[in-house]
Amino acid sequence: MPHDPLTECLECGLLQRNPPLPPGGVAECARCGGVLHRDRPDSLNRSLALTLAGIVLFIVANSFPFLAFEMQGQSTQTTLLTGVTDLYQGGNWFIAGVVLFTSIVAPGLQLLLLLAVLIPLSVEALPPWLPRLFRWVRHLTPWGMMDVFMLGILVSVVKLSEMATIVPGASLFAFGVLILVLAAAQAALDPDLVWSRVPVATDLSRPLRPGDDHLACGVCELVMHRASAVWVPRRFDPLWSRVPGRARSGQWHCPRCTEVLHRRKPRSLQRTWALLLAAIIFYIPANLLPIMTVTSLGRTQSDTIFSGVVFLLEHGMWPLAAVVFIASVFVPLLKLLILILLLVSVQWRWTWRPRDRTRLYRIIELIGRWSMVDIYVVTILVALLRLGNLASVQAESGAIFFCAVVILTMLAAMSFDPRLIWDALEPEHVGDRKQSISREPATL
Ligand SMILES: [Zn+2]
Ligand SMILES: [Zn+2]
Repeated sequence: MPHDPLTECLECGLLQRNPPLPPGGVAECARCGGVLHRDRPDSLNRSLALTLAGIVLFIVANSFPFLAFEMQGQSTQTTLLTGVTDLYQGGNWFIAGVVLFTSIVAPGLQLLLLLAVLIPLSVEALPPWLPRLFRWVRHLTPWGMMDVFMLGILVSVVKLSEMATIVPGASLFAFGVLILVLAAAQAALDPDLVWSRVPVATDLSRPLRPGDDHLACGVCELVMHRASAVWVPRRFDPLWSRVPGRARSGQWHCPRCTEVLHRRKPRSLQRTWALLLAAIIFYIPANLLPIMTVTSLGRTQSDTIFSGVVFLLEHGMWPLAAVVFIASVFVPLLKLLILILLLVSVQWRWTWRPRDRTRLYRIIELIGRWSMVDIYVVTILVALLRLGNLASVQAESGAIFFCAVVILTMLAAMSFDPRLIWDALEPEHVGDRKQSISREPATL
């Protein structure tokens, strides 16, 4: 199988040779230990089969009720969409939008895009829109949170088990299997194999030598001379750049997947600081204000995130209390602290333990999404408890702030460029501040 001769580690920026891998083999970065590539046997066929199974399960999971709630002879049923519509009708459009996107739209779109990419590839066809769609699969992946939603269902069921009878619906099983199938489809998919089938529009035959001005694509991982990238002038060009002697502004794009290319993520430190500061400010009301009000048999009680954990502890459900505490209290705080440490260390150009700091970055990328569990619990409770004074749940403003904290810290982690950690070790390295994207290439 043809593959790119060179690869640049997206976590430390080291340019290295890309060796052909034995079946099931893994290539690790020589400097930071991050996984560069993984060989996945029979990748296209397996991921196509799993994607097809995933689409069938997705339709089933969204068509039938997944939980029924029975209390004093009255019952309600809920589908995946009920919670979203109830939140929206209750005026909580922000949470409704986030839940809709992360639990239904993103996973569904991801499955459809995968299908649209894998079917043509399996018949050796290559429609021109394929690279663009596959690029979107990559961008959507962190936002599909069905597994976190499943944990939310589990927490809700345990919370309600003392209060009423909970009957699992047909779609709950489909939902459970879907999570496994989605995980298996992602594990089976070899993105390098897909990209190796896409022809590159420009000439890449000129070999790269040390010190050459090169760019690496953050999506398809193509490494190229800057002159081989595609220069796209900005469509809405500010007037001042048309002054004679001043070049038009624009961006370099990848000739294979059309992604915008940067040596380092643009204005990474400023963006990450801004998002992080916003998250820190929102973290305070998220923990002080109640996230929901529960009415049960005429009694009304407001819960903050912390009192939710205490409730579980008081009722002897300490494993679940631990899960909710870790996901909702510990993980967001840990994420904020790690991001501050990373930003400060890059700002002051620390050379201390770059490998461990890269590892910390990997950890926050991995765990951040699990904090969404409390938002899903609120959504599920709102959808299930709709019996007026007998039993009902209202989402409160704390949930909006908490949801914003999770999204902001995820965006902050995405805008942080871990390669900056390693740039401090190379004094002559061109950092993100010096990169020039407003200069037209000499070849044009
Ligand atoms: Zn590396
Ligand atoms: Zn690319």
